[in-house]
Amino acid sequence: MARINASYRKLAAGYLFPEIARRTREFIETQGDITVMKLGIGDTTEALAPAVIDGLHHGVDLLADVKTYSGYGSSTGQAPLREGLAEVYKSYGANVNADEFFVSDGAKGDSANIQSIFSADNIVAVQDPAYPVYVDSNVIAGRTGESADGCYQGLVYMPCNVENGFFPAVPDVKVDMIYLCSPNNPTGAVATHEQLKGFVDYANEHKAVIIFDSAYAPFIQDDSLPRSIFEIEGARSCAIEINSFSKWAGFTGVRLGWTIVTDELVVEDSEPGEVKAMWNRRQNTFFNGASNVVQAGGLGVLTPAGREQTDATIAYYMENARLIRAALEELGITCFGGTNAPYVWLKTPGDLGSWEFFDKLLAECHVVGTPGAGFGPSGEGYFRLSAFGHRENVEKAINSIQTKLKI
Ligand code: PLP
Repeated sequence: MARINASYRKLAAGYLFPEIARRTREFIETQGDITVMKLGIGDTTEALAPAVIDGLHHGVDLLADVKTYSGYGSSTGQAPLREGLAEVYKSYGANVNADEFFVSDGAKGDSANIQSIFSADNIVAVQDPAYPVYVDSNVIAGRTGESADGCYQGLVYMPCNVENGFFPAVPDVKVDMIYLCSPNNPTGAVATHEQLKGFVDYANEHKAVIIFDSAYAPFIQDDSLPRSIFEIEGARSCAIEINSFSKWAGFTGVRLGWTIVTDELVVEDSEPGEVKAMWNRRQNTFFNGASNVVQAGGLGVLTPAGREQTDATIAYYMENARLIRAALEELGITCFGGTNAPYVWLKTPGDLGSWEFFDKLLAECHVVGTPGAGFGPSGEGYFRLSAFGHRENVEKAINSIQTKLKI
């Protein structure tokens, strides 16, 4: 008799975005002919950079000729891509080597899968609010109890709030796996060197591992802020970093990411190199490598032209963020983020619940955003607006909020 993984039953109330889609659909059905403006999902909208298109074309051309055709490649990625990525990280001041990069088909899968190389009885700490994958993957893996009042038993929530500038203090209990995301989805907050150093010191002291998601690093405008945890002294022995070209270069549909596992990483019961070898083994066993065409596109991102062109697209999204934040602040709404990340995190006016504000924004302005409560209990009373979108659509949404929102 086959049995299911019953931990799936613990997952609370489905995934956030299907619920947003359901409410939006219902609203449209009851209203008839209206256009809903989306500042909700963090998906990129602008065309790929010409240098990336050239890279993708080149990747296709290689496959068209028997002399340059390639089939399965290394499951850890093509050497030029790993070397190019290592150069970018070196330019950040991060101490990483090309053979510590494990190229993948994106950060979401890696964020979900990385827990599988660690013990099932590890205690997990997450920022609250957080990108949902960190929590859900550990629920599915059986590292939590049931969900009660929006919290899973056994999970350590690290609240991110106004008082701590949306970056948590180190846990005051012993934890084993710590998920950090900076620049943060959903709050838009970016950790400073000092804040990350606090976590690195904690992790080294307790032989814990930090899983650091830097998917929005290229959106950092303030050069004093770290773009990689490997800019922090001591991180090589306690951290794993996950990133991708999704937000950096519009690869959300193209799919290309990487995870960095260093030679020095150790946890309580491992030797240096063992965790890296395990991730290598995991990838070799479950993954046959990222698409060769897509990796050629990734190399296009790393050319001087690709860097310049993707920077320009990021600047475009960041101008959207500036416009959104400025308009909301003019209405007297308190905003965070949006300066080093493509998300504006706002305090709901009138202390409305996140979902109440979602319904109000939809009903009054026909604008869809993302309720903060969907990212964890500390997100209640907050709301995320995404800066990904065509300028004219963002401007329409802003105009609608400015003229129709009743506060
Ligand atoms: N990490 C964070 C923090 C994200 O917000 C997202 C996507 O929204 C991802 C990872 C997923 O990235 P990818 O498209 O590379 O799977």
